[in-house]
Amino acid sequence: MTKTKDPVLDPGHLKTLLKGRVPGQLIIQMTDLCNARCPQCSMRVTEPFARSRLSLDDMKRMIDAAAKNGVEAVSFTGGETFLLQDDLLEMLRYASVAGIPFTRTGTNGFLFRDSDRPGFESRVGRLAEELAKTGLRNLWISMDSADPAVHESMRGLPGVVRGIEKALPIFHQNGIWPSANLGINRNTGGAPETPAGERFDPDAFYADCRRAFRKFYAFVIEMGFTMVNACYPMSVDDASGELSAVYGATSVSDVIRYSGAEHVQVFRALLDTIPEYRAKIRIFSPRTSVLALMRQYSGESTQCRPCRGGIDFFFVDAAAGNAYPCGYRGGESFGKYWDLDPKKTDARAVCRRCDWECFRDPSELLGNLLAFRENPVRAAGRLLRDKEYRAALADDIKYYGACGYFDGRKPPDYEAMKPWEKKNEKHFT
Ligand code: SF4
Ligand code: SF4
Repeated sequence: MTKTKDPVLDPGHLKTLLKGRVPGQLIIQMTDLCNARCPQCSMRVTEPFARSRLSLDDMKRMIDAAAKNGVEAVSFTGGETFLLQDDLLEMLRYASVAGIPFTRTGTNGFLFRDSDRPGFESRVGRLAEELAKTGLRNLWISMDSADPAVHESMRGLPGVVRGIEKALPIFHQNGIWPSANLGINRNTGGAPETPAGERFDPDAFYADCRRAFRKFYAFVIEMGFTMVNACYPMSVDDASGELSAVYGATSVSDVIRYSGAEHVQVFRALLDTIPEYRAKIRIFSPRTSVLALMRQYSGESTQCRPCRGGIDFFFVDAAAGNAYPCGYRGGESFGKYWDLDPKKTDARAVCRRCDWECFRDPSELLGNLLAFRENPVRAAGRLLRDKEYRAALADDIKYYGACGYFDGRKPPDYEAMKPWEKKNEKHFT
């Protein structure tokens, strides 16, 4: 079982923060191979492009360099990483032995199809056992909708929801508590409830989003998940010319495309829904970050802490095996990750151009500590003036502690999360 590091009080982290940096994160896209049909993603199986995969030797070199750089979190992403299951297991083991404390990966759940066929339980049991032997800390399973038929049709994976339900207790028995990974989209709560073409009514849109998030959280709890995260709606606007996605996890599909005014209401609804479920499921999404992003879309962009992408966080793509500031700044290759010296990257750089939660959420939370290091008077003044942000931050810090910092190798401690039942009553009465 992995040991939980306190992301703030760990002495190594404190030393990093005192140097004006945050604990590093490296996302390795092992492959862009995929077998799903998600409309929100250009890596879907129907897209005709030559697929790539990173070699084991290259990934080992990246991991060794990451360990040397003091990187704390390495994520293996795709495509669908479990199409290369042997490579994935080997890399998870390798990263753990190299001393990376937080290793993560995820799946679209294709392995959990055909759950009524004989041998399903033993097949999933063997997989869970193998994963449990690695240092894996978090496994996420993608979920797009509270309506199984909608989710399965979006993914092109019939029967997968029932299979995930059957697989979850098997994972729990083997010491792995997977998280549901919601990619926020217009089908989150089922079929879209606002007819297209109608005049935008922010309150009605907010109410729709609230219903959708409530339905989604209730659904994943009922499925047996004990942890959940939300990926904020991502679509790169090619016309803006500002961003060019390194990899294909973007799409112009209307299912994930929201206007600025809609984004405000999506974030507002998420901000208000999270407290209702915090006692029932470990919700990773920090309200501090959701609030900051809501404000950014309301035109208060400087209220958000700048992203650490390209400073402390990096992304390596499967096609060229190069490092980038993130998955969305494709014009800024750093070359090979092992040649990159993160100490020499420009720590003053400021980017707030997308809502990639992998980078924006930790940047927002840890950015507050960096702000205190840079200018304690200004940082304290801002917190004193901004009651809503201050309350969200204080609550997130307490909640993260109660959730054991989202250790996916431990069950939830509902007793520790119980105070959020009361907080919720207070919040809504
Ligand atoms: S979102 Fe994930 S599962 Fe869906 S097509 Fe893209 S890589 Fe595949
Ligand atoms: S905000 Fe972060 S993840 Fe988004 S484009 Fe900028 S560096 Fe990349």
